[in-house]
Amino acid sequence: MSDSKPPRAPETLAVHGGEPRRHEYDALAAPIVQTATYTFRDTAELCAFFEGRTEREEEYGRYGNPTVRLVEKKVAALEGAQDAIAFSSGMAAVTTAILALCKSGAHVVLFSDCYRRTRQFVTGFLERYGVSATLVPPADVDALEAALRPETKLVISEAPTNPYQTVPDLRRLAAVCKERRIKTMIDATFATPVNLRPVEHGIDLVVHSATKYLGGHNDVLGGVLAGKEGLVSVVRDLRHVLGGVLDPHAAYLIHRGIKSLAVRVRQQNATAQAMAEALEAHPKVRRVWYPGLASHPNHGVAKELMTGFGGVVTFEVDADLEGTSRVVDAARIPRIAPSLGGVESLIEQPALMSFFELTTEQRLEVGIRDSLIRYAVGLEDTDELIADVLRALDAMG
Ligand SMILES: *Cc1c(COP(=O)(O)O)cnc(C)c1O
Repeated sequence: MSDSKPPRAPETLAVHGGEPRRHEYDALAAPIVQTATYTFRDTAELCAFFEGRTEREEEYGRYGNPTVRLVEKKVAALEGAQDAIAFSSGMAAVTTAILALCKSGAHVVLFSDCYRRTRQFVTGFLERYGVSATLVPPADVDALEAALRPETKLVISEAPTNPYQTVPDLRRLAAVCKERRIKTMIDATFATPVNLRPVEHGIDLVVHSATKYLGGHNDVLGGVLAGKEGLVSVVRDLRHVLGGVLDPHAAYLIHRGIKSLAVRVRQQNATAQAMAEALEAHPKVRRVWYPGLASHPNHGVAKELMTGFGGVVTFEVDADLEGTSRVVDAARIPRIAPSLGGVESLIEQPALMSFFELTTEQRLEVGIRDSLIRYAVGLEDTDELIADVLRALDAMG
């Protein structure tokens, strides 16, 4: 046994990764250290801490917490990254990281189909502070390369993206950026480290909305960023200032959620694949976007990079806005809600959920058709979910 390799399977890492064999009080489960601050025995201990002469890590809640640290270490283990840092939400992770890596005069390149709030932050907010941005077409690494400038500091992408689930070739993207010393950050919320580990493909930073698959139960918000120790520590320093820290109780819920991440995601992969195939064969469905289908434009790249294709199925039905809503309303098992990645299946019509304020024409300009449905599968029975969604298609009239 002495020459056996350290555990690397996501199943094992999700359960044990980043944890000591025994917690405080010999507890098996991770303790929730619900405290805002930490005490010092005397001035000598305080001075020893500030001079770095102790093993002790904690000083004040905004600078760190043992329960939060467990989440960070577990995600780092799952991502195959040196370190990770947790935040109060996915957007706190994204915005803190971007702010830490860009100063006035910097240029950022991102794919046009990246998460709407990330795009809003970069193009609408950061531009006010002298950071410029270029949006390039989804998954188009040639266009991305052409958009790079001497002052480009950061390239941001998602894999897969929402709702069409494009997957750029991360190996090429990483190589093109590395050559020019440009940092790369991938939001891999949809993939999870079970299906995709961007760091293994040369990406510098990977970010997750832990609100989705990592937490996995639709009951907690959080975000995590993983990557090289030096880079993560630059972001950590800014988190100390901006303050988007994860609460210890929320950290406990996320840590507990991650324990079952691998089995949940594998089940969701299987259900989504089966649902995507069933929908693709249905006469009332115009088109299905799922990276596990041969018909998806990035299926080839996805197959090379990913070990599973995720739990979200996007499809277009043969109906107008109202007819599509009737399908959404007729599905009995999934709940109508934004978000994804939890145990409950969720269904939404992107035109009405995320793009409500736009007209049909404006939505078409950003590529969102009225007849689009996003289905994020949960852990209900695969056959029952598929039978339910196929029956709902009859409601469109
Ligand atoms: C939900 C989501 C976010 C934002 O995360 P929050 O936890 O809601 O702040 C960012 N990126 C992607 C891909 C998401 O799905």
